[in-house]
Amino acid sequence: MTAEMNREFPPVFDGHEDFITQMEPRRGRPARDFLALSEFGHVDLPRAMSGSLGGCFTSIYLTDERAEANALSYAVREMNDVFQLADRSEGCFRVCRTVDEVRAAFADGAFASVFMFEGADPISWSLNKLRVFYEAGLRCLAPTWSRSTIFAHGVAFAGSLPESGLTDLGRELVARCNELGIILDVSHINRAGFADMLEASTQPVVATHSNAQAVSAHVRNLDDDQIRALAEQGGTMGINFATAFLRPDMQFDSDTSVEAIVAHFDHVVNLVGDEHVSFGTDFDGAGIPDVVGDAAGLPVVLQALQARGYSDDRLERIYHGNFLRVASAVWR
Ligand SMILES: [Zn+2]
Repeated sequence: MTAEMNREFPPVFDGHEDFITQMEPRRGRPARDFLALSEFGHVDLPRAMSGSLGGCFTSIYLTDERAEANALSYAVREMNDVFQLADRSEGCFRVCRTVDEVRAAFADGAFASVFMFEGADPISWSLNKLRVFYEAGLRCLAPTWSRSTIFAHGVAFAGSLPESGLTDLGRELVARCNELGIILDVSHINRAGFADMLEASTQPVVATHSNAQAVSAHVRNLDDDQIRALAEQGGTMGINFATAFLRPDMQFDSDTSVEAIVAHFDHVVNLVGDEHVSFGTDFDGAGIPDVVGDAAGLPVVLQALQARGYSDDRLERIYHGNFLRVASAVWR
């Protein structure tokens, strides 16, 4: 492995990446090797390193079709694929389970990958699989994607989903995650579920990839009351680069400026301070602005934040400190 970490900026720990979805052949495109430079999609190790992207929550993404086919076997297979990737990487790509491991990867210029489930579909009613996945490295969990599970209901992208909050089993899931040391993620959950998660959790919760509704009124974004509530509980939200969640007109349009991204950081910082905002790019999971292009283009955003006059301490919190603060509070 020859990829060198860009040290011009503190490393970014990204709240949400879907690179696993690119590790198998898809829609006529060949499988992509995360360790090799590619022109497809947004992120691989060489592009991450050159973009000062030091690690992420690696999403096991459970769409309707996957969840209904067999979520458990999808999750096991994808986690195994990631372990094999780590094995082949000569230490350049690491599956991390502790804050110390993430910081050590940063120091060594290696990529720190932490497993998360975007949808708790692999966990059945008995919750007995949660402990097993925790031991395998699961450290962040969203009870649902934009669909319904036995735990909660998501915000619908199309059609409609129930507007009720956590189910009784969803409350048990929150308690069990608190006990084990798994960070709870409110991105994708509906309004009532968001309120229930914050009320039920004894620990800070995060929105791994959600923006500010005050800037872009998209249903997937958080309003100011939700952002204040998340901050009061000590959480953080990762700013998502999906153009529809960035733009005031909510259009999928790759001709979107870097200022449109910075506007969401600014809004959250002005509302609740710099301890509650992070990155949640959605690389390989969403259409992002051409001006960024891919992980190698991340410095375009980092430079724009520097140009705002943000102090080094503030930038370090936004780049990785806020997620690691929550991890320190929650992980065992
Ligand atoms: Zn998502």
